[in-house]
Amino acid sequence: MTLEVRLFGDPVLRETAREVEKIDDEIRALAAKMFDTMVEEEGIGLAAPQVGMNLRLLVVDGSVFEGDEGRAYINPEIVDFSKTKVLYEEGCLSIPEIRADVERPEAIRLTYTTLDGETVEEEVDGLLGRVLQHEIDHLDGILFVDRIGAARRNLLKKKLRAIQQKAMRS
Ligand SMILES: [Zn+2]
Repeated sequence: MTLEVRLFGDPVLRETAREVEKIDDEIRALAAKMFDTMVEEEGIGLAAPQVGMNLRLLVVDGSVFEGDEGRAYINPEIVDFSKTKVLYEEGCLSIPEIRADVERPEAIRLTYTTLDGETVEEEVDGLLGRVLQHEIDHLDGILFVDRIGAARRNLLKKKLRAIQQKAMRS
């Protein structure tokens, strides 16, 4: 079962999401629906606010891991990051058809809880590090277009406004 992806302009994308207090059937069902939605929309990451849920939960597609299945991250928190920053092109299911280079730390150390309730601390870089930083931003109401230069953002203004109008109509 899939969920509706909220678009740029929807206020839920600007809220600070609440911590998940209990990992129960409801959370597991939501994560499963988020995986289905991500696959359907051909995304590699999806955060709960993008499907209208104000919760600190995100999923990452299996293609980002080597031969692994996708993963769900509950209450993820970045505890440290590398001083080295890298530019990498990003897109977002909530901001369709817009891509832009975003500068972010190359590596992060994060803590999170798995769907089995296990607490994990790990260091990640590369594509996974990038996807996680983008998705964790969603939990704090931040979108990748907030992190690009003003000039570039100005160029995207019209496109962003068109998406915003679509969000208001749905
Ligand atoms: Zn996004």
